[in-house]
Amino acid sequence: MTQPTEFDVIVIGGGPGGASAAGYLSAEGLTVALVEERLIGGECHYWACNPTKTLLRPIEVLALAKAVPGVREAVGQAQVDVAAVFAKRDAIVDHLNDDGVTAALQHDGFAVIHAHGRLSGEREVTVTHRDGREEPISARHAVVLATGTRPAIPDVPGLADARPWTNRDLATMTRVPPRALIVGGGVVGVEFATILAGLGSTVTLLVRGHTLLRNSEAVAGEMVTESLRRNGVDIRFGAQLSAVTRSDADGVVTATVDDEYIEVDEIVVAAGRVVNTDALGLDAVGLPAGDFVAVDDHLHAVGTDGTWLYAMGDTTGRALLSHLSQYHAVVVADVIAARARGRQLGPDELIARDPHNLPQVVYTDPQVVEVGRTESQARADGFTVTTTTARYPEAVPDLAIFRDGFDAWAKLVIDADTDTLLGATFVGPEFAELAQAATLAVVAKVPIDVLRHVVAPHPSINQIWNPLIARRRSE
Ligand SMILES: Cc1cc2nc3c(=O)[nH]c(=O)nc-3n(C[C@H](O)[C@H](O)[C@H](O)COP(=O)(O)OP(=O)(O)OC[C@H]3O[C@@H](n4cnc5c(N)ncnc54)[C@H](O)[C@@H]3O)c2cc1C
Repeated sequence: MTQPTEFDVIVIGGGPGGASAAGYLSAEGLTVALVEERLIGGECHYWACNPTKTLLRPIEVLALAKAVPGVREAVGQAQVDVAAVFAKRDAIVDHLNDDGVTAALQHDGFAVIHAHGRLSGEREVTVTHRDGREEPISARHAVVLATGTRPAIPDVPGLADARPWTNRDLATMTRVPPRALIVGGGVVGVEFATILAGLGSTVTLLVRGHTLLRNSEAVAGEMVTESLRRNGVDIRFGAQLSAVTRSDADGVVTATVDDEYIEVDEIVVAAGRVVNTDALGLDAVGLPAGDFVAVDDHLHAVGTDGTWLYAMGDTTGRALLSHLSQYHAVVVADVIAARARGRQLGPDELIARDPHNLPQVVYTDPQVVEVGRTESQARADGFTVTTTTARYPEAVPDLAIFRDGFDAWAKLVIDADTDTLLGATFVGPEFAELAQAATLAVVAKVPIDVLRHVVAPHPSINQIWNPLIARRRSE
């Protein structure tokens, strides 16, 4: 059967954002082509979120077991079984195969085109198949750009030639390097350090600045620093990587850091991302190639005529988070479907409401849960801010039930004028599930006076809210 060449909507990029958008658009009754040059599921499913969290989970569970009397004695000095961890990871990433998901999507009624896509004009896309064959396809209503990002390799002499590991190598590793040097102290760098140290590697972490997680509340970076050090990670702050060499194909890597040579088995780069818009034909529609695609709140690409070109998720640069891409998928599908039915949208109708509302979890031990703005972001945005903080278990002694050495910290950032929550940070073991209540409070602008009546069950980690929202003596 020949493939049609005209669709209602073309989505370029089959990551969590693009694949979800294609599904929602198809469910709206529109004909959809999803163009993906690698694997449907994108960076997140095969090389980022899902494999890394699968690698982290057993490390976290073993640490918890060793912190619970009765279980601690049962597990003794046990270490994680690396082969079993890799087997679980392989299953989660579908053994790097997208045949199943492709068949399921095709069954749902839309075209999956495994090819590189690039814009070649208004509503026009040229797809280049894996055999080099080019084919034009066109969209009656819209083209959605969901092409995501790839790892950046810093411009350090010798680094690119030393075949550094990126997230793609770490996520698919089949052996744990005995010694690893990680470059970067952001979210990805600290998660990598947790994984490699937890699986038995001797880890050195190079950080250019003087803190980990520099965009977070300072205490979060300090607690993660302490914990990584406790687990044997050698963290070098203010470190300058100036040269890298690898002796031969499988040889050791020597990194020059300030005046020192550090020899390791793998150097792992966690130093930012490059957006996949350089080979996307943006210049054919008057947009700069290689930049994030600026969008308005309908996710329509700013600087293009009409309402046919949209971008979503990582491609917009609004935040590099899988759940943002999946949220954008809902918004972009609603907007395109409404416009395809001829509806004129008002400026506030069906808009994306992600700025300053998003949750993020850093899956270290302790986990760092961040929602909305930090205090410094809120002040920079002109808010009059009050904050409440608490340290645990001191503030809620019963939390010591959950494990020995329970150590956590939390902070609320409150708009003093409206008494509503602008942001929250929770740092503690297995805290990821705390994100949703705080996100709800931020998005719904729930007054703190109302939050006081949201009663947390006893005993539960949710009780960390209690001291944060308790009425102050002076009130
Ligand atoms: C190590 C690591 C861990 C992470 N962990 C988390 C986490 O725990 N939680 C979280 O929320 N986020 C996490 N992220 C971020 C997350 O991976 C991204 O936010 C998410 O993948 C973005 O989804 P997306 O659909 O926008 O793009 P992507 O997942 O990048 O998908 C884009 C797709 O487009 C395809 N593509 C690109 N150009 C073209 C083209 N021209 N033609 C056809 N196809 C093209 C690519 O092959 C890719 O499949 C992590 C990132 C890293 C690096």
